[in-house]
Amino acid sequence: MPSELEGTAQPGAMVVCPLGPRRVLGVVVGREPPMHEGRLVPLAGVVEGRPVPAELLDLAAWMARYYMAPVAACLRLVLPPGGGGALRRDAAGEWVLAPPPGRPRLHLTARMEGSPPDGLRARRGEVASVLAAAGGRLTTAELCRRAGTTLPTLKAMERDGVLTLARERWGEDSLSATAGAAPASDIPPPPTPGQSAAVAEIERLMDSGGGPLLLHGVTGSGKTEVYLRAIEAARARDRGSLVLVPEIALTPQLLGRLRARLGEGIAIWHSALTPAQRAAEHRRVREGEADVVLGARSAVFAPVVRLGLVVVDEEHDPSYKQDTSPRYDARQVAAKRARAAGAAVVFGSATPRPEAWHALPRLTLPARADGSRLPAVEIVDMRTQGAGPVSRPLAAALHDAAMRGEKAVVLASRRGFSLMALCRECGWIARCPDCDVALVQHSAPRRLACHHCGHQEPVPGICPVCASTDVVRQGTGSQGVEAALARLVPRARLVRMDGSSASGRGAVARLLAEFSAPGPAILLGTQMVAKGHDLPDVTVAAAVDADAPLQHAGFRSEERAFALIVQLAGRAGRRGEPARVIVQAYEPAARAVQLGARHAVEEFLTGEVERRRAHGLPPFGHLVRVVLDGDRPEAVARAAAALADAMRSGAPEVGVLGPSPMHRLRGRTRRALLFSAPATSTVTTPLRICLDRLDPDLRRAAVRAAVDVDPQDT
Ligand code: ADP
Ligand code: ZN
Ligand code: ZN
Repeated sequence: MPSELEGTAQPGAMVVCPLGPRRVLGVVVGREPPMHEGRLVPLAGVVEGRPVPAELLDLAAWMARYYMAPVAACLRLVLPPGGGGALRRDAAGEWVLAPPPGRPRLHLTARMEGSPPDGLRARRGEVASVLAAAGGRLTTAELCRRAGTTLPTLKAMERDGVLTLARERWGEDSLSATAGAAPASDIPPPPTPGQSAAVAEIERLMDSGGGPLLLHGVTGSGKTEVYLRAIEAARARDRGSLVLVPEIALTPQLLGRLRARLGEGIAIWHSALTPAQRAAEHRRVREGEADVVLGARSAVFAPVVRLGLVVVDEEHDPSYKQDTSPRYDARQVAAKRARAAGAAVVFGSATPRPEAWHALPRLTLPARADGSRLPAVEIVDMRTQGAGPVSRPLAAALHDAAMRGEKAVVLASRRGFSLMALCRECGWIARCPDCDVALVQHSAPRRLACHHCGHQEPVPGICPVCASTDVVRQGTGSQGVEAALARLVPRARLVRMDGSSASGRGAVARLLAEFSAPGPAILLGTQMVAKGHDLPDVTVAAAVDADAPLQHAGFRSEERAFALIVQLAGRAGRRGEPARVIVQAYEPAARAVQLGARHAVEEFLTGEVERRRAHGLPPFGHLVRVVLDGDRPEAVARAAAALADAMRSGAPEVGVLGPSPMHRLRGRTRRALLFSAPATSTVTTPLRICLDRLDPDLRRAAVRAAVDVDPQDT
């Protein structure tokens, strides 16, 4: 520690560490006298900017311990953006993080006040809804890209008075300006008794050192209204709020409501922001200019000042768990952070996870706020139907809706044309040569593809095993359903939204705008469409293979199938329109299907909690999964056996399951071990020791070990 840095290199400061010729970013986590015997190299400098708040340093340290993740990877999550980037000196010779914040520049910008005018033709209607979804202001370049149009169209719309074009400043503050001026203040509806009770409880929590609350309520029951009032209550106490949503695509919708109610001071936070936008939003939050942060998983690390409230919307959504290292669960990190900050943390869902249902104090919003009834759910037994993914009742319902000019949502849980190519003679199934999964058949172009590694091959005309020509598509992916619907319901405009069609910035907004345009339309998609988008005028909601999650052996399969049906029903019949919900199932008697169709959330979850208790699953037991993988199957098998033995003898109180049978993915062999114990640390403490001891062997055998604490699936 050079003496001139003594004053600034305090805990949380970012420092420049000389490692050979490189200058590497470090973070001061504490100061102790040197214990190292070798040569010590002086720090080269302290990086400009405020130190990382102690609260977030502690959070990173906790994550590293709890999730058995490298400290550096956890710290990176709480550093300002660019923290993983290069270091450089600015003009004044100060160390700064690269990339530098973008310089403000003038861009041709489209502006539209208020909501889009009625009666715009297709392309113009799309431009207007994209612009409205972005809060009324966008650069013309971005608007053209998102709405699939060109500048002459925008100029014509300007001549007609729909929007205005002007050169405006965009750059480091572009994001906060994305939504333009806040729309005219939204008049809050008088709260229902349930909403009042929820807000009062959240205020009580904020005033008494914090704590969690599960807000259970069907779609449309007014949960968002509770969040808005709770954020206002936090503001009244001069405290900040964090609002987490499962998916980036859901932010614009909620951002509009937040701005209408709360005005300025809202930052948005997710991985699709540019580095300059992230840097600007980070600065606004850190300086307290923005006291409300809205974002996906990683927003849980936003440096909100005097945190008073954390909202986790759609708490059951699996995307809150990150599936690469550090494998953190934003729900758990939110709870941990709220505890440290004395903040209230509200988990909202129509279909909470059993662990939340069991462990958290709960309030229920019993009915839809607009008084509309939940639609009845019709179950179609697919075993009694002919071939093809669309049953007769569903085809009839979609046809009727299209004749009336109404809209429908159809859920197909898998991508692709059909699930697989199957020989009806001998049972052969086309499989990926590198992964242990069936290949998925796609149309346009017609081919078989692996959804894990991208391998592709032609569809075989004859079975490679028995030479039969009876090779058929089995199962139904979204593309197969699309073809069937195009044939059965030609009047309806088909909009497909899945991982293939909805990738890229703005793609989801574009697809939703296309669907919302006037006229009969069917939105066809994977789980994504059931995720809480506010869709107008939907009178039919259907699931093509509602029980598909049950084919999967994980311990959450039941609740996923259940949630799918309940969430789907929530998509239809809002604002009082009569609606039909049709659920196709191959196992119509399954508990998840039956109870889902009756919206019997309490009954279902009570049963799931008991099942979890009986099997020692969360929250009664905690799981840690270790996946070992490498090029050589024998080496992986040996490593897995060695780790299982080490844990069995070293930690007899830990349950050990596995090693699992060999599984290949992207040409590498994998074996998993599952450990369970009443507390996570009961597993991770001995596991850390065992892995450290085995480390030299693993390195020699080129076997990697990935630890997943609280895996979402087994
Ligand atoms: P959720 O988040 O549970 O889906 P929202 O908060 O979005 O529910 O509410 C659904 C609809 O009901 C919205 O249009 C909202 O404006 C309206 N709403 C919410 N609370 C009330 C209330 N107390 N009185 C009247 N309408 C309400
Ligand atoms: Zn065959
Ligand atoms: Zn593959």
